[in-house]
Amino acid sequence: MPSQTQFGLMNRDELGAELDRQRENYARLRDEKLVLDLTRGKPSPEQLDLSAALLTLPGENYRAADGLDTRNYGGVTGLPELRAIFGELLGIPVSNLLAGGNASLEIMHDLIVFSLLHGNSDSAGPWAGETVKFLCPSPGYDRHFAITQSFGIEMIPVPILPDGPDMAVVTELVASDPAIRGMWAVPAYSNPTGAVYSEEVTRGLVSMPTAAPDFRIFWDNAYAVHPLVGETVPALDVLGMAAEAGNPNRPYVFASTSKITFAGAGVAFFGASADNLAWYQRNIAKKTIGPDKVNQLRHAQFFGDADGVRAHMEKHREILAPKFALVLQILEDRLGASKVASWTDPKGGYFISLDVLDGTARRVIELAKEAGIALTAAGSAFPYGADPDDRNIRIAPSFPSSGELEVAMDGVATCVLYAAAESLLT
Ligand code: PLP
Repeated sequence: MPSQTQFGLMNRDELGAELDRQRENYARLRDEKLVLDLTRGKPSPEQLDLSAALLTLPGENYRAADGLDTRNYGGVTGLPELRAIFGELLGIPVSNLLAGGNASLEIMHDLIVFSLLHGNSDSAGPWAGETVKFLCPSPGYDRHFAITQSFGIEMIPVPILPDGPDMAVVTELVASDPAIRGMWAVPAYSNPTGAVYSEEVTRGLVSMPTAAPDFRIFWDNAYAVHPLVGETVPALDVLGMAAEAGNPNRPYVFASTSKITFAGAGVAFFGASADNLAWYQRNIAKKTIGPDKVNQLRHAQFFGDADGVRAHMEKHREILAPKFALVLQILEDRLGASKVASWTDPKGGYFISLDVLDGTARRVIELAKEAGIALTAAGSAFPYGADPDDRNIRIAPSFPSSGELEVAMDGVATCVLYAAAESLLT
């Protein structure tokens, strides 16, 4: 049952009655013995089916546009025809964009390892052995933070606002601390808040003075072509802006088709300045003789051109948008009046970021788990898994069916109200 009254306005007796009501709701929820999962932002089987034709490509047609036999070694920069398609979508010249393997995270991981072992193209020496820090706009993507944490890189949380990180905080930190060598960024339909970096913030990031000469922004444009509502936000020419500002090597740009075609069998992209790409290729050449060009060719054939990608993303939107709308409707219906939670209304991407009453996120997640609803672990969108306010929960609506989603979200709302009433009474 929805609560019709703002919890903050209730006296103790009213809150006690509310707690009893929510306890009963929760008992009924547990009796349903659900097994539902709202954790990872994976495409649903229906979305994967949109790309089924990839499985029969390239067939006998395995030569690239320039006649290259994609079955053989070589072509370390990736197929030009696929780079041209994604270069147009990402606003990056083909010569500055490489097509690689199946995962952009792997490239990010490699870049950090290469930097630790050798330093990057502007470093005086390897990062390893020095104190290295990264700025982490938070809430952010847990797997980014897992990479930096695994190498002992100190992570500094920075608040994320709807138009990007809090620049007053960022500019002051990078100007004063030479140990800050990098920053994570998800510029479009950010994971998990849906933030979209504005042009002003982007220009600020590429032009701000940094104490470290080899500072890098890991510009992970994973959701560049993933609108849910309205027009796709334009991909900002971050490399061009950085060059104009005199810091051409600052951005590393990433993207992939993981949420476009197959999440485990897509193509990842890396965009950067000529200097950065030369440095990367020197290092990657020791690791591989070339990427999977057969997969790259089948992707180029499947899409044809950038408009082919845009049309394909419309089909994803048709599947995803109603699921997001459903989650938002349930949140409003069940939690709106109580004012014990707030949530984002993303215009694209894969997540809704739910903030519950301070100090109750862990409890909500535990209650949901006991009722058979898996939510992402408490704090996972923060460096070191530490949500300072214990309030954030990342909701991933893509994978479950609408029916499952409805039941799961209704259950989550019950847990949020129960935990809030409990907390306000103690
Ligand atoms: N970057 C962000 C921001 C993501 O949310 C995800 C997946 O959820 C990835 C990267 C993973 O990309 P890939 O599959 O290319 O490694």
